[in-house]
Amino acid sequence: MEQVVIIGSGCAGWTAAIYTARANLNPLLITGQQPGGLLTTTSSVENFPGFQNGIEGTALMMEMQEQATHFGTQIQYLSRVESVDFSSSPLKVTVDGKVIETRSVIVAVGAGHRHLGVPGEHELENRGVTYCATCDGALPIFRNQPLVVVGGGDSACEEASYLTRFASQVYLIHRRDSLRASKIMAERALANPKITPVWNSVVEEVLDVAQNRVTGVRLKNIVTEEVSTLDCAGVFVAVGHTPNTQIFQGQLTMDEAGYLVLGEGSRTNIPGVFAAGDCADSVYRQAITAAGMGCAAAIDAERWLAGL
Ligand code: NAP
Repeated sequence: MEQVVIIGSGCAGWTAAIYTARANLNPLLITGQQPGGLLTTTSSVENFPGFQNGIEGTALMMEMQEQATHFGTQIQYLSRVESVDFSSSPLKVTVDGKVIETRSVIVAVGAGHRHLGVPGEHELENRGVTYCATCDGALPIFRNQPLVVVGGGDSACEEASYLTRFASQVYLIHRRDSLRASKIMAERALANPKITPVWNSVVEEVLDVAQNRVTGVRLKNIVTEEVSTLDCAGVFVAVGHTPNTQIFQGQLTMDEAGYLVLGEGSRTNIPGVFAAGDCADSVYRQAITAAGMGCAAAIDAERWLAGL
């Protein structure tokens, strides 16, 4: 019987592991099939406190992993949780066909960026295609260059506004003729002279795979069917996130987008099950906020176990 099983190995998961390991709970962390989570898909992380020159996303996650290991975290690498049964105590977590029984669970499964699914997007990821302006916007390749942001929600508006600090011009490509974003964020973005909205348009291809860097996008106006090319040095995809919470459906309370709904602190609707990081946060979604939530979940789990 485990005391605490942590599902997920992003900032939230590793931080929860560090705290629960230091509380002598001997946590078991299931990494999932993308150890380190979303941060391993980004280049330099320059906004995580403590690294004044920035740190590679993968290196940051390795540091966290080593810190968690140092304090005695048990790690099950590259394992995937197939299902959970939270209907009775002990809680059950099935990993690679094996059932693990545990008194508590910290869910830190993160969220994935929604992709456009167009040619060139995958090939040019981290070569001009990115999913996080806060992480990558200040990179030299984007400075004083025209940039494209795709999407019409709060994220797209926020990213477009943020990118105006670095870009010569930001084109906001949206598939409809009005933004979905909240009024204040939409108005702020549209009032910015450096942001040009491109309405009723979808990206059909990111150019240019042959040059191994982003040189532009091929756009299609879905009303007129007109196809055009827009030169740019970067494509920031902000079409939403999908929390990786499918396996908890029917057991943990979630909103319509799949984000886990928390009660007091990090508590879910099931006693002994706590959640942290992007799977329970549709607003901030930063490495440092995920780490903070991981800490909170660990403390909540520790207190809950002490009360048993
Ligand atoms: P979102 O609200 O779901 O918006 C996604 C946008 O991408 C929509 O405009 C959608 O178009 C578009 N889209 C989706 N799939 C697409 C595709 N395949 N091709 C082209 N466009 C596509 O996602 P979000 O902006 O990431 O926001 C998520 C949540 O976080 C929201 O609750 C938001 O309020 C919150 N958030 C808050 C802040 C803040 O308060 N500072 C900042 C960021 C996010 P349609 O409009 O046509 O559906």
